[in-house]
Amino acid sequence: MTPVHMAYTEVWPPAWEAAEACGRPFRPWRLEGVKATTDGYVDFLAARWERAVDWTNLEHDVIVTRAQLDNLEACGSAWCAFADHHRGPPTLSLARFRAPFMAAHPWVWEELRFEGRRSIFQPLWQVCDTWLVERCGLPCLHGPPYAMNTRALAWARS
Ligand SMILES: [Zn+2]
Repeated sequence: MTPVHMAYTEVWPPAWEAAEACGRPFRPWRLEGVKATTDGYVDFLAARWERAVDWTNLEHDVIVTRAQLDNLEACGSAWCAFADHHRGPPTLSLARFRAPFMAAHPWVWEELRFEGRRSIFQPLWQVCDTWLVERCGLPCLHGPPYAMNTRALAWARS
């Protein structure tokens, strides 16, 4: 089964409980210090790329279901993502990457770091979704969109 990795700054119990209930290997990655609000998320993504095995990205404010992970694992596409209820596609919030996709785009996060140094207006973690699409094209899109419930939104804003 494809492991589920989650970068997080704070534990939101409903998201962790849902992830653990799905029966996949669950691998939290804590973002600490100044990196949590700057390029820590890029470090996390780059580390997954370096490992180069199939994995699912789950952001820390998403309540995932077993059916969604089954759905992603059953699809043969190299990069798949669930649609985001609020922002529309594409998104990294719930996405599955296969090894050939990462091998085909080995420098995508290094390139973002390089490009990111040119801008002081936006932290890198905010542009990872759009950067990946700009460099690699759109993912295979899955639905229905997951819903971030109001509790998650309130937590994310706090
Ligand atoms: Zn797919």
